[in-house]
Amino acid sequence: MKILVLNAGSSSQKTCLYEIAGEIPEQAPKPVWEAKVDWSHHQGFAEIEIKTANSEKLLLEEIPGDSHSSVMAHLLDTLTSGSTQVIGELSEIDIVGHRVVHGGQDYSESVVITQSVKEVIARLSTLAPAHNPANLEGIEAIEKHLGNITQIAVFDTAFHSSLPDAAAIYPGPYEWVDEGIRRYGFHGISHQYCAQRAAQILGQDLASLKLITCHLGNGCSLAAISGGVSIDTTMGFTPLDGLMMGSRSGAVDPSILIHLLREKDYSVDKLDNLLNKASGLSGISGVSSDMRQITEAIAQGNTRAQLALDIYIHRLRSYIGAMLASLFGLDALVFTAGVGENSPRIRQAACEAFPFLGIKIDNTRNTSNPVDVDIADRDSKVRVLVVHTQEDWAIATECWRLR
Ligand code: ADP
Repeated sequence: MKILVLNAGSSSQKTCLYEIAGEIPEQAPKPVWEAKVDWSHHQGFAEIEIKTANSEKLLLEEIPGDSHSSVMAHLLDTLTSGSTQVIGELSEIDIVGHRVVHGGQDYSESVVITQSVKEVIARLSTLAPAHNPANLEGIEAIEKHLGNITQIAVFDTAFHSSLPDAAAIYPGPYEWVDEGIRRYGFHGISHQYCAQRAAQILGQDLASLKLITCHLGNGCSLAAISGGVSIDTTMGFTPLDGLMMGSRSGAVDPSILIHLLREKDYSVDKLDNLLNKASGLSGISGVSSDMRQITEAIAQGNTRAQLALDIYIHRLRSYIGAMLASLFGLDALVFTAGVGENSPRIRQAACEAFPFLGIKIDNTRNTSNPVDVDIADRDSKVRVLVVHTQEDWAIATECWRLR
């Protein structure tokens, strides 16, 4: 079975092709072909990087085009021709899976895409203006080029549809409940995958585990997962809530916004830009949203970079505490995504706050580029795992399930 997966962001898109012979494997195989498209560098142009599994062939090019449709046509061409060819005909693709960021209250599970599903995704664009329109463009580009093929939407919000009301409903006016103003939570595909993978690594039944999964990438969120079910999470109505992130503030006192609107005459767009693009690690440090550059700047004595890191760690620890309180206990703390997978310093700093829970990291394991392993000390009372998140594979497995 050949499964094409599209993971579209506001200015970039990952696309990959999985080939499954026989039963679905328990662990993620390498995609046979993968492409990254980046629109952020050069306006009107798409920067494309393509890799195939067998040859590690790399195609790097920049093509004109800012529409998903023209870029998708080009990507599909590279599947069937040239140095990156992996299939003979596009008709060999059986199914296409899409990561869709916002499924609102409409979807608690992945669905086969129909006209009415597309209408809901479009309606929910007001809640995820940077993502849902891009997701929809990806779906329509596939329709245009692959015709009537089955397409599946896998929602980043779906895993958190199990949040109990006490965690999901904001303590504002009751009308918000009817208006759909509530905590949705995001990164659900990653949190769910990591929980399942954690159970595999621990050799335990997911139903018996209490986990906190820490997705620390450009966007950051935590999930409290009990028995495989999300019961609390840090992102909220939008992906701006909760932890400090690369360029997003995370939670701030809402009165700061009222103050800026009232006293400084800020426009809505300016506030939006401020909180989503000019805050977080980038806003505080003035250096970068990238944790690697923050660490380098700290090594050179940059005090604002140090402050940014200190706030990031403070927030991470306090939200881990919040998730702990929802879980009434903890079997494993799981780190994933760019920072979570690659920064021993952040993992160490997060765990340092909880020695009274018996959390103890093994320093050698923590600093030996761990992938899908337990880095806790042998006598730690809580396991600490590093899991390589595989969102694209998780989407492919949903396609397999719904095929
Ligand atoms: P996204 O949320 O866009 O999928 P990723 O999960 O790829 O992002 O995470 C990107 C972030 O991971 C980068 O901004 C960078 O800060 C961080 N990162 C990647 N490699 C390292 C590293 N070796 N050490 C610390 N941070 C890293």
